[in-house]
Amino acid sequence: MQLPTYDDVVAAAARIQGHAHHTPVLRSATADARWDAQFFFKCENFQRMGAFKFRGAFNALSKFDATQRQAGAIAFSSGNHAQAVALSARLLGMPALIVMPQDAPAAKLAATRGYGAEVVLYDRFTEDREALTLRLAVERGMTLIPPYDHPDVIAGQGTAAKELFEETGPLDRLYMCTGGGGLTSGSALAARALAPQCKVYGVEPEAGNDGQQSLRAGRIVHIPVPKTIADGAQTQHLGAYTFGIIRRDVDDILTATDAQLVEAMRFFAERMKMVVEPTGCLAFAGACTDAAAIKGARVGVIISGGNVDLARYAELLATR
Ligand SMILES: *Cc1c(COP(=O)(O)O)cnc(C)c1O
Repeated sequence: MQLPTYDDVVAAAARIQGHAHHTPVLRSATADARWDAQFFFKCENFQRMGAFKFRGAFNALSKFDATQRQAGAIAFSSGNHAQAVALSARLLGMPALIVMPQDAPAAKLAATRGYGAEVVLYDRFTEDREALTLRLAVERGMTLIPPYDHPDVIAGQGTAAKELFEETGPLDRLYMCTGGGGLTSGSALAARALAPQCKVYGVEPEAGNDGQQSLRAGRIVHIPVPKTIADGAQTQHLGAYTFGIIRRDVDDILTATDAQLVEAMRFFAERMKMVVEPTGCLAFAGACTDAAAIKGARVGVIISGGNVDLARYAELLATR
């Protein structure tokens, strides 16, 4: 298995140029003062379709040959990956088919269809979504794009950290959320190339620390679907590619509790005027639990996304 490299991240950056947003890096004097650190927030909540996932999906679909473009892309996801593949396919003028659970939130179904994708629904309790997706892929000749364990997806996700380092120069520590590890492994490739001294940390929900367990065990650990408000990080295991990079290039994987995610979400809303989804709060929450280590440091934080149902968002912010 050939792991993607930083050269692939550079190539991905050229492919997404002019299609993905070059998202802002924001500062917060309040955060800096409270933790006696210098924070640099890379705001992927302002990315197209509201999350970094657009980078990986667009990069992967851009590499299709003529035959693949004709048939299009297929993916299974109820979250941001669905919208990322749907939007990328529309921009590249190819069909997309997304396999989603019947009980997916209406807003997500509508958003995915709104980007022009065909949606096939399945019953989570009686149907095997992977088998269904593979059957549809074969029937229609479509190319399956997984949400994280794919070299082109990883390389695309790495472009966010590349932009961050190019803007800030070297950082002492970089934090990002870890679900299946696409963002984490891509970011690690960029960090190792652009800031070799920078310590790199993934952050998982405490209830779903399969990545942390995997690092400790030296093999990919599988867990049951974790119960957490961080729905973008409810993955049950890392992938073969992502784990290969993470075990080599990531210093550690930390965790944050749901209560800490809500605290971070409130901070972003109150002090920085930003809507950040619970999963997007993992990196900052993890950095804040690392208070002694970040003191006096230049700290990069990747805010991964901002897609949250507003009624749900208000409900979470109302809890103390
Ligand atoms: C998918 C996603 C994650 C997790 O990313 P991985 O590449 O699976 O680790 C984190 N935050 C948001 C907003 C996401 O959409």
